[in-house]
Parts: sequence; structure tokens; C-alpha cells
Amino acid sequence: MTSEQEPNCIFCRIASGEIPADVVAETSLSVAFRDLAPQAPTHVLVIPRRHIAALRDLGPEDAEIAADLLSLARTVADQEGIFAGGYRVLTNDGPDAGQTVHHLHFHVLGGKPMAAPLA
Ligand code: AMP
Repeated sequence: MTSEQEPNCIFCRIASGEIPADVVAETSLSVAFRDLAPQAPTHVLVIPRRHIAALRDLGPEDAEIAADLLSLARTVADQEGIFAGGYRVLTNDGPDAGQTVHHLHFHVLGGKPMAAPLA
């Protein structure tokens, strides 16, 4: 489902500044903030300001947002000092993937080797 903002969505409320978060970078379209329960020394979430529930809801009309999200993920990696060593960018799309917050977000993870399989 796609709309500008969903009043009950925690990430919409972070994007609007209504709920505090440790914001590390932002653009006019996207916001990056630290995950509350980090899975790596660096664990930042990159989200669109607009409410888009999951990757499956991103359409061709959202190309600018998609590019902005990935570009911001790269900026965050650079800013966090994990660019040279390498980092992982992932999104969980739907229940089998374990998506728990239904507002599209890319996890940016790094600061330690992550050679283990994803699942
Ligand atoms: P996912 O399981 O892919 O939907 O990831 C949701 C992520 O959001 C988890 O890693 C949570 O730790 C994180 N999270 C949930 N609420 C917050 C919050 N208020 N601020 C920062 N991270 C959050």
C-alpha cells in the first residue's frame, strides 16, 4: 500500500520527526537512522519519507525514490567508515523474509566480516 504518510506507522512518524531517532543522514526523499537493536557494529536503516509498505510496493513510478534510497545507503556506508571494508544492504519483503515493520527499509550493515550465509 502506498500513500504519503500512515498515522500509525512508526517509520512514518520517525521520518516526520514526531518520534525521535538517531538520524545519521537524510535527503528530501529519504531518511537514515540507527537501528534500535543493532545486528552489527554499524546498523542503519534507510527509509523513504513517503509510506511505501515494502519492496513489492515499489513501482516504476518510484524510480527516483529507489535511486535515492540506494544512493543514501552508499553515503551512509561512506560516512560510517565501512565503505572500504565492505558492507551489506538488505531488505526483508514479506512474512517469510521476517519483515516486522511495514514501511520499506534497507538495512545497512557493516563493521565486521559477514561471511555467513544470509539464512
Ligand atoms: P525488519 O525485521 O526487516 O522489518 O526490520 C525492522 C527493524 O526495525 C529491526 O531491525 C528493528 O530493530 C528496527 N526498529 C524497530 N523500531 C525501531 C525504532 N523505533 N527505531 C529504530 N529501529 C527500529
